[in-house]
Amino acid sequence: PAPGGRPPATKPGIPGVDRIVAVASGKGGVGKSTTAVNLALGLSLLGLRVGILDADVYGPSIPRLLGLKDKPKTSGGRTMLPLEAYGLKAMSMGLMVDEETPMIWRGPMVMSALTQMMREVEWGELDVLVVDMPPGTGDAQLTMAQQVPLAGAVIVSTPQDLALIDARKGLAMFQKVDVRVLGIVENMSYFVAPDTGNRYDIFGHGGAKAEAERLGVPFLGEVPIEMAIRESSDSGRPVVATDPEGPHSAAYRDIAAKV
Ligand code: ADP
Repeated sequence: PAPGGRPPATKPGIPGVDRIVAVASGKGGVGKSTTAVNLALGLSLLGLRVGILDADVYGPSIPRLLGLKDKPKTSGGRTMLPLEAYGLKAMSMGLMVDEETPMIWRGPMVMSALTQMMREVEWGELDVLVVDMPPGTGDAQLTMAQQVPLAGAVIVSTPQDLALIDARKGLAMFQKVDVRVLGIVENMSYFVAPDTGNRYDIFGHGGAKAEAERLGVPFLGEVPIEMAIRESSDSGRPVVATDPEGPHSAAYRDIAAKV
């Protein structure tokens, strides 16, 4: 039974979509969207048909990360066609408004936008739909977790205690609504100076792994801080798409293989 003794909400799936995987974080700025995009591309390299839904309606970053600028077209009726980039199908509220326009929305509007992006987009046949969740554990997250049959959630955290405390809350939220936690990714795990090869644990290292072990959920891998990851994301050419065999893509490909 659902928490509070209510009957479980019915969760109709998205027709044609096999698995929906949420990528979440306890707080913003930890690299959730970067991870979501590169994970989606990693899944695509495994031969899967993959879509990415930007559910971070207050701070949509998928259009920028994938270099998408066009407005989505309607398919004649009510439904919209997703855009395509690097073999991924993509939909984001950021495609409907320009980047500088703030989303000043109350909860119910956010919910209806999310529902629309799931149910009124012609996703077609997909093996995996990766959902870039908004950061935190508010209304939008809870509703997504309750309304959509999620195959599981991947939690992204940096190694600092503060980020981990928030990640733990995110994890607890998914567990509360019976969504399987597929595991934790430690982003910005360490830095290797390209000139000297010296390694620096800028935010500490290993915190997420320890946390995963403590909580009994899988640890999916660590992604170092890399200039190439930052530059490629910010220029709309994600590393896993542009340099799939390169060293910066390896961590994401490993994570994709475990998801
Ligand atoms: P979030 O979705 O958690 O808010 P983003 O994915 O937008 O975070 O990342 C925040 C910033 O950090 C972006 O400029 C992004 O390019 C950068 N970033 C994310 N992960 C890495 C990484 N592993 N190495 C270097 N820069 C990163």
